[in-house]
Formats: sequence, C-alpha cells, structure tokens
Amino acid sequence: RNSLKNTINTIKSETLASVDWAGTEYEWSEDVKNVLKEKFRLKTFRAKQMSAINSTLSGQHAIVVMPTGAGKSLCYQLPALVRPGLTVVVSPLVSLMEDQVRSLTDKKISAKLITSTSPKEETSAVLNMLKDKSATVKLLYVTPERFAKSKRFMSNLQKCYTDGSLQRIAIDEVHCCSQWGHDFRPDYKYLGILTQIFPNIPILGLTATATAHVLNDVQKILNIPGCLIIKSTFNRPNLYYKILEKPTSQDDCLIILEKLLKYRYKDQSGIIYTNSIKDAEEIAEGLRKKGLKVACYHANLDADIRSKVHIRWHEQHYQAIVATVAFGMGIDKPDVRFVIHHTISKSMENYYQESGRAGRDGLRAECITLYRMQDIFKVSTMVFQSSAGSTDHLYEMVKYCLNGTLCRRQIIAKHFDEDWGDSDCNKMCDVCSTSQSDSPKDLDLRAHCRIIAHILENAEKLDTKLTAQKLLDAWFLKGPVNLRHKGKEPNFPRVLGEDVIAFLLINGYLVEDFHFTAYSTISYLKIGPEMSGVNNDGFKLKMRVRVYSHFELSKLAPTELFEETDNKSVKRKTEPPPQVKVKRRLVEIDD
Ligand code: ADP
Ligand code: MG
Ligand code: ZN
Repeated sequence: RNSLKNTINTIKSETLASVDWAGTEYEWSEDVKNVLKEKFRLKTFRAKQMSAINSTLSGQHAIVVMPTGAGKSLCYQLPALVRPGLTVVVSPLVSLMEDQVRSLTDKKISAKLITSTSPKEETSAVLNMLKDKSATVKLLYVTPERFAKSKRFMSNLQKCYTDGSLQRIAIDEVHCCSQWGHDFRPDYKYLGILTQIFPNIPILGLTATATAHVLNDVQKILNIPGCLIIKSTFNRPNLYYKILEKPTSQDDCLIILEKLLKYRYKDQSGIIYTNSIKDAEEIAEGLRKKGLKVACYHANLDADIRSKVHIRWHEQHYQAIVATVAFGMGIDKPDVRFVIHHTISKSMENYYQESGRAGRDGLRAECITLYRMQDIFKVSTMVFQSSAGSTDHLYEMVKYCLNGTLCRRQIIAKHFDEDWGDSDCNKMCDVCSTSQSDSPKDLDLRAHCRIIAHILENAEKLDTKLTAQKLLDAWFLKGPVNLRHKGKEPNFPRVLGEDVIAFLLINGYLVEDFHFTAYSTISYLKIGPEMSGVNNDGFKLKMRVRVYSHFELSKLAPTELFEETDNKSVKRKTEPPPQVKVKRRLVEIDD
C-alpha cells in the first residue's frame, strides 16, 4: 500500500510540475508585476520566483527549494500584497523575523511579529488584530512553538480563518520539520495539523535543503504529500571550491590559516569552521597570537557574547569568525569572501550550506576545505553518537575530498540531482583551474587489498583492534612487529596510503567498528563486505590517484598556497591577490 501511495504522490507531483507556473497570463499577473516594482523596488524576478508565486496564488500547496540567498522570502512576501487577507509566516529564529519585519516596514508594508520576548501589550494587540476583520496587517511572523503552545493564538487564528481573512501559511526553513535535515526543530512537527484546522489554505514551505529524502519527509509531516516542488538550480557560479592538504600538526594548520588570512584574504571577511569547541578556541587563540583579528563562536558561549561577536564581525571589526556549526542560520553577511573548513563537514548537504555562506553578493568567494584522512574518524565518531547522522553521508563528503580529476561542481550537482554540464564551472574549482599536465594515474589495489585484509585478519587473531592509523603503520611496516605483514612496504608515500584506506572505507572494502570508552568513541577498522573476494583471481580494484597540493611550510612564500591563476570573468570587489606559481607534486607510483 505504501508503495502505491508513493507512486500516486510521484504522479501527482509530476503532473503539477508539468504545468508552466512561470506564465504571465494569470488574472493576478499584472498586479504581481506592479507590486514587484512599486513595493519591492525590484526590476525582475530571479529564477523560479515567479513559478513559486503563481503556484501559491493558485491555491496549491508547494515547497520552494532554492539555495540560500536566492530570494525565497519574496515568494511569500509578494503574494501577501496581491490578495486581501493575512499571510502567517512561520520562522525558526527571532533574529530572522526581526530582520524581515524591519525590512518590510522600511518598504511601508505592514508586518508584525510575536515572540516570547515581545512586550505583553504588543502581543495582545497582535492577537486582537487576528479577530479584527478590518485589520490591515499583511504579514505576521511567528515561531513554530506558537502553534503548539498558545491556545489564544490558535483560537484567534481560527477566527481569522472563519472570517475568510487567512490567506496563506508560509513555513520558512521548512526542512526543520525533518530529523533528516541538518537543523531539526521538534516544534516544527506540530505544523502537520495546519492542513486539518485550516482546509483550503495553501501552505508554502521554503528551504535550501534539496535532498529527496528530506523533502519527502517534510511533505509527510506537513500532510501535503505529492505537493508541487519548485526548485531552482543550486549552482553557485561565483564560489570557488578547493581542497587543501591538511598538515598533521595544529601548528602547521595555523601557519596555513595565517597565510591565507594575512595575504590571500587580506582585508576580507570570512568564516573558519571547526568540528569542535576546543578546536575553535585553540585556533582563534592561535591566530590572535599571530596578530590576526578573529573571534570564536560556539554553543557554549552566552547568547549575548555570541550576538556581540556576530555584530562585530558584521562591522568588519573581526576578519574571521572561528566557529563550530553553531554559527549558521541567520548569517546574512553578503560579503563573506572565504569559508575555510578546518575539518570536513559531516555531509555534502552540510558542506554546501556552510560553504554557501560565502559570496552571497554574487562576487567571487572561496570555499576551502582542509582534508586529511584522520578527520574522517573525528567526524564519524561524532556522527555515530548522534541519532540523525549517517556515515553514508559523511562518506559522500570524503569522496568529494578524495576526488582530484572530476570538476568539484559536478560532484555537488550530482548530490542535488542536477546536471550543470561540463562547461559550467568556468575554472571555479581547483580541479578545473589547474592544468592537468599528466594523464590521471590509476593505482592497482589488488595486492594492497590482500595485504590489508591479511593484516586485519592477523590482528583479529591476536585479539587486537586496529584504528586507521595503526592499520597504516602495520601496512607501512611501522609499529608493533607482530601486527606487520611479511611483504614489502608500499612504494608510495603514506599520504597516498591514507587515500587508499579512505577509498576502501567509503567503498565498503573496509568498515568502521565503533567502540565506546568512558571518555570517547573510537573507530576501528574491520574487513568490509566488498573485500570478500579479495583472494580470488578475478578480484580487481583500481583507484584514481589525485594530485596533492604540497607544502613545505618553512620554505613557502606568503602567496604560494594557491597554484591557480585567478579567474577574471568573475568580478572582484577588491584587488585580486598576487598571482602565484604552481607548486605541485605528483605521487610517483611504479607498478
Ligand atoms: P533566501 O531566503 O532564499 O536565503 P532572501 O529572501 O533572504 O533569500 O533574499 C536574499 C536577498 O536577495 C535579499 O537581499 C533580497 O532582497 C534579494 N532579492 C530577492 N529577490 C530578488 C530579485 N528578484 N531581484 C533582486 N534581488 C532580490
Ligand atoms: Mg530565507
Ligand atoms: Zn570545476
């Protein structure tokens, strides 16, 4: 029955999607055009805004999926002014609500909000307004808790509805409904009742989360299965994507960050994401000691300190915020020129959201990820402890980092079920912008797999568990002798060995085996299902070897971190950084 239901929903949404919602022949089209010009003072719509507006004005339930900064707010703000009655907007953050109400008020559009901290009289006035047929307020912003916890709000809204004055309910950041999304908010679950209490009132959900899994879940929770999904492209042509080799020591990491901030991003503003509070504090402290103006941001800081840090960064007092992912929703600084990931994100979805905070003004910005194998396990143990995460999502992220031959945009596009074509990158990723002088090399892994499997089997016999590092040691004939193998040490550097282990892990030849201790979770490696045929003659496995960016930090000139020449077709606000020379190393393999 479930699969039949799913099929019906798919057909339903495909039928809806086949309508050309972008048309200008609707009865409201003239008004829509006028409101855009006169109230919002905008010349044209951006991609899919018109479709979203037409569909919701037609009374359809719809979910609008657009990347951050694409202009989702207009999709409910504009229709609110075209029709009589009230639009209720559900928003997860008071600061987002305040920003929007302020900006609407500036445009002489009547908008109000209710928050838990609003003065009593104000809340009371707004609640009474709901019962007043002649009220002129067009948009009312509330948090999801309001629906769950305020009886008075609900009964007044009911009155508004029976008066025929409730026009539409917009739910911003609608992915918060789903625990598969990246910032689940339990209170969003209550919103499922809306379609029952307010039949025929169109729901308009908005989100930057595009995964089918989350969208399905959201439809289910909101009781709008098979509703229209309006999605614009997720390509961010002005973002430059790059992976950098992460040094093993924190001090060396600091040197890289220092160089980036002092030279490449001089006088520019950005974010450095870390995966723990400890890292955020250490790195902020380390960079401050090097004379950089940075501040730290994480969930353990008091709310007033966090908001002060945020404001001072906005005012360009700090060059960068060193933050955990707690620094997220509600960042609307348009001129973020760089987002550096000191540790990989826990999924491509998270990576896209976090890096996507760069370049909202449409000018060139850079998204740099420091990658090394060890961080996989730092993140996987965290993911394993949380209920919502999945190592599958993490492995997608690792795949993105291990890649050295495909355009990074293509990997991101695939994640969003899109195809941005080969030429769309415009040299805006490290793969496309470095000339690949040699044809890519494939490393035959057959013999190596046999050795690795042997090491793991032997360790098991000895009742020893191996972390990735211990496995690498044994493979490279280091560490305890009884754990090593009898063969030769690999004829390539350890960093390539790390890539091999990561490659085997994300492809199921190795699997993680998590163990709890009193203080932490440890990830050991075990033989995975794909390894079963390793000793058969027919076993074949190859890995494409990537080109590493190589640093000898002590010798590195300040500007030499990047090998690419800068792309001129994307406008820069500031002077382009000095051009730099190629510094690469191709790992030699001779088998
Ligand atoms: P999102 O919610 O998708 O992250 P917002 O609704 O906050 O994005 O809009 C981001 C910015 O884009 C805002 O400054 C908004 O004024 C601007 N914007 C939206 N639509 C248009 C448009 N059609 N033309 C020009 N600017 C627009
Ligand atoms: Mg928004
Ligand atoms: Zn590319």
